[in-house]
Amino acid sequence: LGGHAKPQQGRMIPPGVKKLIAIGSGKGGVGKSTVSSNLAVALARAGKTVGLLDADIHGPSQPRMFGVSKRPASPDGKTIIPLAAHGVTLMSIGLMLPEDKAVVWRGPMLMGALQQMLMQVEWGELDVLLIDLPPGTGDVQLSLGQKSEVDGAIVVSTPQDVALIDAKKALDAFATLKVPVLGMIENMSVFVCPDCGRESHIFGQGGVAAEAARLNLPVLAQLPIDLDTRLAGDSGAPVALGDGVMAQAYAKLAQDLIA
Ligand code: ADP
Repeated sequence: LGGHAKPQQGRMIPPGVKKLIAIGSGKGGVGKSTVSSNLAVALARAGKTVGLLDADIHGPSQPRMFGVSKRPASPDGKTIIPLAAHGVTLMSIGLMLPEDKAVVWRGPMLMGALQQMLMQVEWGELDVLLIDLPPGTGDVQLSLGQKSEVDGAIVVSTPQDVALIDAKKALDAFATLKVPVLGMIENMSVFVCPDCGRESHIFGQGGVAAEAARLNLPVLAQLPIDLDTRLAGDSGAPVALGDGVMAQAYAKLAQDLIA
């Protein structure tokens, strides 16, 4: 997040946004939304003005993770006022639709929705806008990569082979779209038994580090399987709001990104 923002002219990014960071994954369920919500909170706690755009059109999780459900207001029928929760400015496609309604849209409609969420939402002045992407390498990634100048992407993966195979594809897609990748995050890297302290590598070990090394990328964080993380996410108050080890891990991740 450090350094100078790129010139704003000609970019399809909201006018007051200094940095646009996309968070992607190959597979769903690896913790991309969990990482996005916690990183947003940790950056806000570090003093940054932060927005989070939940562009996971097919499975928007951020309303639940931030404990919000109110439909954003649009006083003039054009601009949309984002919500504010836990110090983060938030917009999600999930806020515009009932929670149990599936989005069955073709590419152009997806692009329209994304463009609307980027450009019609009054994001205001933000140091950073995080975008929680849908998993994979589909229309949203393509239109974001083509139409807006994403400053950097972070790819979240578990150490499991099936997750990593897809994470490699996501990394390849960012390379094709010329989106610089800031690094990888290994989520669910280990489970430490709360009773005996024994470590279990439930999803395997070492794969994310090996892939990052192959691409000369940093591993930005290794986050364990953690009950508090899951409970906090479900309760609408991300674990990064607290002061436990996971909050500290996210604070460090935020600091490293700011540095
Ligand atoms: P994605 O956005 O990649 O689909 P989510 O962030 O929705 O994944 O996470 C999938 C599930 O795993 C959620 O129930 C979430 O609470 C849980 N989860 C994510 N990361 C962790 C973790 N480090 N420890 C325990 N549970 C996690």
